[in-house]
Amino acid sequence: MANSNRPNADISHVYRGTFIHSTQQTALQILEDTLLGVDTDGKIAFIEKGAELNQLSQIFGFNPSEVTQLAQHELFMPGLVDTHIHAPQYCYAGTALDMPLLQWLNTYTFPVESRFKDLEFAHRVYTQVVQRTLRNGTTTACYFATIHTDASLLLGQIANDFGQRALVGKVCMDRNNSVKHYKETNQESQEETCRWVSTYPLVRPVVTPRFAPSCTGALLGQLGAIAKNNNLHIQSHISENVEEVKLVKELFPESESYTDVYHKYNLLTDKTVMAHGCYLTDAELALFRETGASLSHCPNSNISLCSGMLDVRNVLKHKVKLGLGTDVAGGYSASMLDAVRRALDTSKVLTIQDPEYETLTFEEVFRLATLGGSHALSLDDQTGNFEVGKDFDALRVNVAAAGGPIDMIQCEGPKVRSIGLNECAHISTLINKSTTFDFSFMLIYHHFNFRLFWKNS
Ligand SMILES: [Zn+2]
Repeated sequence: MANSNRPNADISHVYRGTFIHSTQQTALQILEDTLLGVDTDGKIAFIEKGAELNQLSQIFGFNPSEVTQLAQHELFMPGLVDTHIHAPQYCYAGTALDMPLLQWLNTYTFPVESRFKDLEFAHRVYTQVVQRTLRNGTTTACYFATIHTDASLLLGQIANDFGQRALVGKVCMDRNNSVKHYKETNQESQEETCRWVSTYPLVRPVVTPRFAPSCTGALLGQLGAIAKNNNLHIQSHISENVEEVKLVKELFPESESYTDVYHKYNLLTDKTVMAHGCYLTDAELALFRETGASLSHCPNSNISLCSGMLDVRNVLKHKVKLGLGTDVAGGYSASMLDAVRRALDTSKVLTIQDPEYETLTFEEVFRLATLGGSHALSLDDQTGNFEVGKDFDALRVNVAAAGGPIDMIQCEGPKVRSIGLNECAHISTLINKSTTFDFSFMLIYHHFNFRLFWKNS
């Protein structure tokens, strides 16, 4: 019973069955006939073998008859972590993917985002995107909002009320020549960012320069200082598209590289997540590693906008923290399972181009979507896998749910038990082939606020 400690809080729930998660050492670990106890603070109090039931019940003071037994075709997995998603862009997801990045921003994105001054419209879209991502199994999301502080605060409130852990950023941009009304002055951007720095129990503010081309050096420097003085998370975009990299070189000629632009303004820290990074050099990746900054791999968006393909294997070799993102609406799907599939596709395309390339495995990508994401957002002390002391932030998956997307073929009935390699193949199939996986997910998200939400609803 290596993982169990004397309880600090009472046990509220105990589950018994199959748990699947990642650790630093193992990309996909399947724990069969396992007992997991959740305390009244929503934290994992123990995770042990089923045979330890009687001993655990004495130590932790729960009644063995109250243990919730999962069916043979059910499993728990960690909640999915979306490390990069634009909440306002959800209103046009799946459309307008006929242009490359810079033209796409000017033609579609900025005009739509400027509408979020209207709080009623913002409320409608933000409610939908939070509900949709939760239904897709995203229990943690790192959102870009718009330049509008009140609407950004509203997004934080909505995520918190629905019980989704979130990082929310009011977008900062004092440079925009194409849609002139959709930008701030340098002073407004600073003041409004400071006004935005308020927290809800489940939501943290993120300092969010849109990307280097949308910000003057002065603003980037001020945002770096705000993040440092308030110990805040930072998010932005980097090296997504060739034309953008060229533009950054023109706008910041004194910087050695795109990464150096952010580094110079103190925007690369161990609480920074940068989306994309398709064209980063090895020297830039080394700077990420040195500063502790992370990358968000958004393969759907990278392909949909013809931006590029991230060499994930090279990022991992450089030991840079990495998670997956949907990047709605550059990416057309708000599902992290789609991000899992696209990450595998991109890796296989790289292998087609170079047969020597070491393709990512399903297990590795599963880890990126869960533990990797929590690590990239510096939330791995709270979520990402099943470890004692972390929040019980989990998805209960029923692979045989009525109306679900999986057809169970085996005559002996559905199984999630591990039988050597077949089991991995089975779970891989489950996630790779589902197109409407929502129906198979049941969110079990144990912490104070989520319980309150359920009580109120
Ligand atoms: Zn983005």
